[in-house]
Amino acid sequence: MSTTPPRLDMNLDLHDLGVAGLAARLAAGDVSSVEATQHFLARIERHGALGAFLSVNPEVSLAQARAADARLAAGERTPLLGVPLAHKDVFVTRDFPTTAGSKMLENYRSPFDATVVSRLGVSAGGAGMVTLGKLNCDEFAMGSGNENSAYQPVLNPWDTSRVPGGSSGGSAAAVAARLVPAATGTDTGGSIRQPASLTGITGIKPTYGRCSRYGMVAFASSLDQAGPMARSALDCALLLSAMAGPDPDRDSTSLELPATDYATDLIAASAPSASAKPLKGLRIGLPTQFFGAGCAPDVLAAVRGALSEFEKLGATLVDVSLPLTELSIPVYYVIAPAEASSNLSRFDGVRYGHRAAQYTDLADMYKKSRSEGFGDEATRRIMIGTYVLSHGYYDAYYLKAQKIRRLIAQDFQTAFAQCDVIAGPVSPTVAWKIGEKSDDPVASYLADIYTLSSSLAGLPGMSIPAGFGAGGMPVGLQLIGNYFKEAQLLGAAHQFQLATDWHQKAPGISA
Ligand code: GLN
Repeated sequence: MSTTPPRLDMNLDLHDLGVAGLAARLAAGDVSSVEATQHFLARIERHGALGAFLSVNPEVSLAQARAADARLAAGERTPLLGVPLAHKDVFVTRDFPTTAGSKMLENYRSPFDATVVSRLGVSAGGAGMVTLGKLNCDEFAMGSGNENSAYQPVLNPWDTSRVPGGSSGGSAAAVAARLVPAATGTDTGGSIRQPASLTGITGIKPTYGRCSRYGMVAFASSLDQAGPMARSALDCALLLSAMAGPDPDRDSTSLELPATDYATDLIAASAPSASAKPLKGLRIGLPTQFFGAGCAPDVLAAVRGALSEFEKLGATLVDVSLPLTELSIPVYYVIAPAEASSNLSRFDGVRYGHRAAQYTDLADMYKKSRSEGFGDEATRRIMIGTYVLSHGYYDAYYLKAQKIRRLIAQDFQTAFAQCDVIAGPVSPTVAWKIGEKSDDPVASYLADIYTLSSSLAGLPGMSIPAGFGAGGMPVGLQLIGNYFKEAQLLGAAHQFQLATDWHQKAPGISA
């Protein structure tokens, strides 16, 4: 008699399982990592028109899947083993090109993997996830709509005439369209939370320093932070547990806190609980500045609906104030370009990336290589950054912005004296039409109003699907925690997701 377990019907929609669901099928031997990888690669090809991927390499992915299958066959049962994912194209990878969405790095190949990539991957010591490819993003992660990619804009799978948000727009669109169970993203001023909100998925930006920045193409180093994007808080918790942790030899700003298992508590909390009010005692602070006239009524309605669900789960809502919220826009758009202008000075046509074909002397080579390699938004930020750092303007702009940054961080601590987590919208509107804001960079800067302040403070924040607004487009609820409180955020989000099904809704794209 055969002892081979019955195979799953391969018509089963593997892409609907999510990370935890797929991991369970892999561990049970119902499906192999190679089969799952083939399934997702076929889907990525079928939905290429979304523009979510910048590169795939089936040969590499399948070799990784075979390595994961060998570990499964040898009896290893780690939570992510054999589950596919894809990386935002700002994480350097040995086996795929890394472009950061820029012509400057077209065809660039890194000799090493970013720490986050190796922690998640199949190489020794990694969690055993299979990389399906690299995801489109705004050039050097600068943008809010993914229209600044030098390659192509990403389309929102809920309505392909709209943006998916940015800068991790490829990551968000790929997860929302079920092309991948999960993806990595980076968040400097909202780039995990805002695209997650605009595409109806879950994403968390951890406390600054929680994940190593080693091998992340630098945008604004005092703000850049990696995090997972997936369909649920549980799936994000599984990924974050593998991604986070100190990296003292490679990133001196990585926190010296031990790696944390964020998922086990969530799984334990999923058991039918005696308490009908699992969030009893949780005080949720609502900053008045996040609920004003600047936020569209459809977004506010969805956010308020989600908050009343939190009340049903036992949480209490309290009013708090973050008085400097409006200043977070000018402060961020001074500090981030300042750091960007410094970080991007390495792209000089000598050491990395694009070099002009013709030039007269060294200065001309720098000038032509940089003019040809950088797109409009990167160029704009380099110019702003250089200006605010220059002699005579440094005190007036950069130093002033740093001082207000400190005050913004203090305001959060005042608010956290009254509450445990802060909640509000992620974006003042649902996803906008492609092209709608492209002639006016300030219009897209203003749309970052609810995500910038927590980034400036270095706080963890997440976006969870909270309903739908105008045009049937997804709306996210933002939860901001105090430093190192990722577990609390994920726990609250998980309880919300056990009680609601917004995170399970899928856009109606063809199979
Ligand atoms: N939208 C913001 C910007 O354009 C944030 C980008 C990010 O978080 N990478 O800078």
